[in-house]
Amino acid sequence: MSIRVKILGSNSAAPAHRRNHTSQLINVEGRLYLVDCGEGTQLQMARFRIRPQRINNIFISHLHGDHYLGLMGLLSTMHLQGRKKSLNLYAPKGLSEIITLQLKYSDTVFNYDINFIKIDTETNKVIHEDDFIKVSTIPLNHRIPCSGFLFEEKPKKRRIDKDKLPEGFTTRNIVRLKHGEDIFDIDGNLLYKNKDYTFPPKKSFKYAFCSDTKYDESIIPIIKDVDMLYHEATFTEEHMDRASNTYHSTAREAATIAKKAKVNQLLLGHFSIRYKDLDPILEEAREVFENSQLAIEGEEFVLVDH
Ligand SMILES: [Zn+2]
Ligand SMILES: [Zn+2]
Repeated sequence: MSIRVKILGSNSAAPAHRRNHTSQLINVEGRLYLVDCGEGTQLQMARFRIRPQRINNIFISHLHGDHYLGLMGLLSTMHLQGRKKSLNLYAPKGLSEIITLQLKYSDTVFNYDINFIKIDTETNKVIHEDDFIKVSTIPLNHRIPCSGFLFEEKPKKRRIDKDKLPEGFTTRNIVRLKHGEDIFDIDGNLLYKNKDYTFPPKKSFKYAFCSDTKYDESIIPIIKDVDMLYHEATFTEEHMDRASNTYHSTAREAATIAKKAKVNQLLLGHFSIRYKDLDPILEEAREVFENSQLAIEGEEFVLVDH
């Protein structure tokens, strides 16, 4: 059981230095969730052999171009490849209007439905839930309405200790044990105590995606103790005024948030085109929070319980 975060792009503003706009693919037990879809996302998916039709849920943080300009192309490809399955599209207000307008003037009707789910960027709320995960919004502090996303794996089932299981144990009772129940006979006498036949469940992971935002400690209670935090680090401290004026963060600020929220590891991204070499960003973050890494595209960061 695991969460895998594949970086498809992590540049801000414009593609540069062989780095693409923001996009990430979250893989939870083979289910794929796309977060942001900047220009170049489709090509990146082809490069990493990710089939668009496997994606049923797309989350867009905000409507600055570097986070969604690749979306129309991706949606069109899904249509051209014969998609029938509906698609959930989570985004702040305005995206449905933009997509609808483009379809209107190209006289196109997709052969699949898009469920537009307008997200409230001001509150922390659950917006998506399925068998594996729960996704909630993280209100961010940006120039336009913007939301991060917290991915939380659902609690897992207890694991059966096969060596201890008596012969002829029924499937129904195995299911009960997995759900943590003790097993009684019809008179209510305890037959099998759960803990004697099972191991504790594997760990459930949490991943938080926070881009774009100014330094803002109000997100700390929401992202507290997550296993992995992606936080934008557009600039180094040298350009802290520019960071503040454009509602972005420096690497030191991202690391400070990671430290205060006591997260396990920090991924830095949303790099300004002014940095060809990203080492200064990494070094600055590591001075505050040692377990920091650069979200380089093509890399996959895995949260797994062995
Ligand atoms: Zn951006
Ligand atoms: Zn932005």
